[in-house]
Amino acid sequence: MLGLMQNWPLTVDKILDHANRWYSGREVVSRSVEGPIVRTNYADIHNRAKRLSNALLGMGIKTGDRVATLAWNTGRHIEAWYGIMGIGAVCHTLNPRLFPEQLVYIINHAEDRIIFTDLTFLPVLEGIIDQCPTVEHIVVLTDESELKNVTLRCKGKPCLAMESLIDQHHAEVVWGGFDENTAAGLCYTSGTTGNPKGVLYSHRSNYLHTLVGLQTDVLGLSARDVILPVVPMFHANAWGIAFAAPAVGSKLVMPGSKMDGQSIFELLETEGVTFSAAVPTVWQMLLQHLQSTNSKLTTLKRVVIGGSACPEAIIRAFGDDYGVDVTHAWGMTETSPLGTISRPTADVEALGPDEVIPFKLKQGRAPVGIELKLTNDEGRELPHDGTTFGRLKIRGATIASAYFKQEGGNILDEEGFFDTGDVSTIDQYGFMQITDRAKDVIKSGGEWISSIEIENIAAGHPKSALAAVIGIAHPKWDERPLLLVKLREGQTSTKEEYLAYLEGKIAKWWTPDDVVFVDDIPLGATGKIDKKILRQQFESYRLPTA
Ligand code: ADP
Repeated sequence: MLGLMQNWPLTVDKILDHANRWYSGREVVSRSVEGPIVRTNYADIHNRAKRLSNALLGMGIKTGDRVATLAWNTGRHIEAWYGIMGIGAVCHTLNPRLFPEQLVYIINHAEDRIIFTDLTFLPVLEGIIDQCPTVEHIVVLTDESELKNVTLRCKGKPCLAMESLIDQHHAEVVWGGFDENTAAGLCYTSGTTGNPKGVLYSHRSNYLHTLVGLQTDVLGLSARDVILPVVPMFHANAWGIAFAAPAVGSKLVMPGSKMDGQSIFELLETEGVTFSAAVPTVWQMLLQHLQSTNSKLTTLKRVVIGGSACPEAIIRAFGDDYGVDVTHAWGMTETSPLGTISRPTADVEALGPDEVIPFKLKQGRAPVGIELKLTNDEGRELPHDGTTFGRLKIRGATIASAYFKQEGGNILDEEGFFDTGDVSTIDQYGFMQITDRAKDVIKSGGEWISSIEIENIAAGHPKSALAAVIGIAHPKWDERPLLLVKLREGQTSTKEEYLAYLEGKIAKWWTPDDVVFVDDIPLGATGKIDKKILRQQFESYRLPTA
């Protein structure tokens, strides 16, 4: 027997319709790419997004067509998102930090028909547009006057100004009305292994992800919040904030292209921001700025930190010096991206304030809607004892079931779980902690060694600028760890000094078989250490123990 409730398709246009109806005057403030602070509100954004939809229909865009954005976090970028998704077209977010050849690959793979871009990225497009045959138009998120001296052509045609398109079209257009499983967004993983792969979000998955994110123990946003998403809309959906904020009527403060400590601090204070989200490096820059200028944060209450592991120093500095609560989160492009979040349970909170810190450092628990399991290489489930580590697998309505165009084939196990490629533990309270990436874990004599754990400790040595650990082939143990250290300028050190520093902090058999001092450690497009390149560089390296 089926239930008798209304079939109300979960499409994201309804979110902005809701904001327009009930929070029409709530502000969206942007640091524009042209410079000045621009103030608008949900009613304006709604109206302008609808005009943009008509412009897209006029350009022949149909349901399922891919329309790309290459843009910073601004109100205009939100208008582009909803304008594209509202008519059932697919919003493909391009990450400007990718190499030009990767951009060419994903634009062609996605068969993007239009690219919306900020002025900032015109030089990038100038270099690649001739290699992207499917692209028919470039629309710049600006007004006509800014395009006077722009020479970029797409199929011989000059760039269009988004403001002119909006001026030339009216706001009468039907949004939604299609199946909730219709594709809404496309975002490629940065492809640290092989070519980038496209994750194709649906309206339904984005709508449900919004509800997951709004749980109190996840992002916990409200109509009283003022939100500054530093996390970019071009990477992993800006953690869903461009949907969650209008859903509950939070004021939005969009940082544009400026993510340095001073610029973020200015916006936090002048706009009365209560909540923000960013990767650890952004918060490091802000904290340095606060310390060097002896400034205080007068309105900020909560920050969410994810994308890579959150250092204890950040949690303590925010909490002790500025009264800001830090929530550590984990996720990935394939998980929309919110996967786990580290808010204390009643049991953990009862342990006391200092005892809570180790739990805040973990990546956290699964909110309702997400299922996790931990397995060994053979797929056998491992205990949740906080020490056994294995492959982290995830399942739910907001998790990818396949990549765009089935790239990479079947990505789910027989129970429908997606292998995250992360290696983690889960403790008795249900807190997951990442210990490594599966491809970076060092397999020594059938046991696993966490490369991240060793490199985090080595990076904490006062002489270290950066540290990385990779596995090197070994005739007896299969693989053994090699520690690579980039020293701070002017420092000298020895293998013995680093091994002595690690002693007692890691299991004896985890001790690296060698330490090599290097001039540089390569970083990838999202600022993480690129171990693929390191492994290539040290391919023929022979350990002294081999
Ligand atoms: P990619 O870098 O492959 O494009 P994402 O940007 O989606 O992928 O990054 C996802 C990966 O980032 C996760 O699989 C995990 O390894 C890492 N990650 C994300 N959040 C955290 C965190 N809080 N702590 C440690 N690692 C994290």
